[in-house]
Amino acid sequence: MTVRIILIGPPGAGKGTQAMSIREKHPIVHISTGDILRENVRAGTALGQTAKKFMEAGQLVADSLIIAMMRARLSEEDAGRGFILDGFPRNVSQADELDLLLDEMSLRLDAVVLLEISDDVVVQRLTSRRVCASCGAIYNVLSHPTKAEGVCDSCSGRVIQRADDHESVIRNRLSVYHKETAPLVEYYEKKNLLHRINADGEPDSVLKFLESLEASGK
Ligand code: AMP
Repeated sequence: MTVRIILIGPPGAGKGTQAMSIREKHPIVHISTGDILRENVRAGTALGQTAKKFMEAGQLVADSLIIAMMRARLSEEDAGRGFILDGFPRNVSQADELDLLLDEMSLRLDAVVLLEISDDVVVQRLTSRRVCASCGAIYNVLSHPTKAEGVCDSCSGRVIQRADDHESVIRNRLSVYHKETAPLVEYYEKKNLLHRINADGEPDSVLKFLESLEASGK
């Protein structure tokens, strides 16, 4: 069956890690607006050049740019077989736009998964997070270090700290999350789509939820 879900949670809740465990075992497409934007920054596109300063400051990129980007991405062929949205929608107006877009495409959402975690745990997790600049693999200097310092275990790429993973930027991203994104909890609760998962738990808890959705044939 085709499953369409949204992952919501503060930065550092493990959305990327959960999505990676899903990718290994499940054919569903993972669409991360943060990843698409970072690719644009690397490639130096007009979108990337505009987005860069907002991203480095932990601020949201303009809704109109994000909506146009997602409209294009969701129209690609692979998205027709279901998807996990990670990092989008990020505020109520993006959620309204997504509703319109899905209506136009005659598609419906199956669930919205909220990864719950405290701000203190987020700060600790993100200041110790490192990512591979080549393949995007995620590491943690405390809980999941690379075998050789600064070198990716899977592709030997350079492992770095994201510019927005420094503490002052993380605090900023958290306050943006509480102000802009947290209202989506009530938004999707009202639509009976919200499912809460403790983000301190298993890295494959979202995969398990996805499989239970499919088993129930929803
Ligand atoms: P993420 O990897 O999801 O934490 O996203 C990194 C940064 O990209 C965010 O701090 C924002 O600057 C930008 N970004 C990602 N998704 C969105 C979105 N849906 N709306 C606006 N900005 C976004």
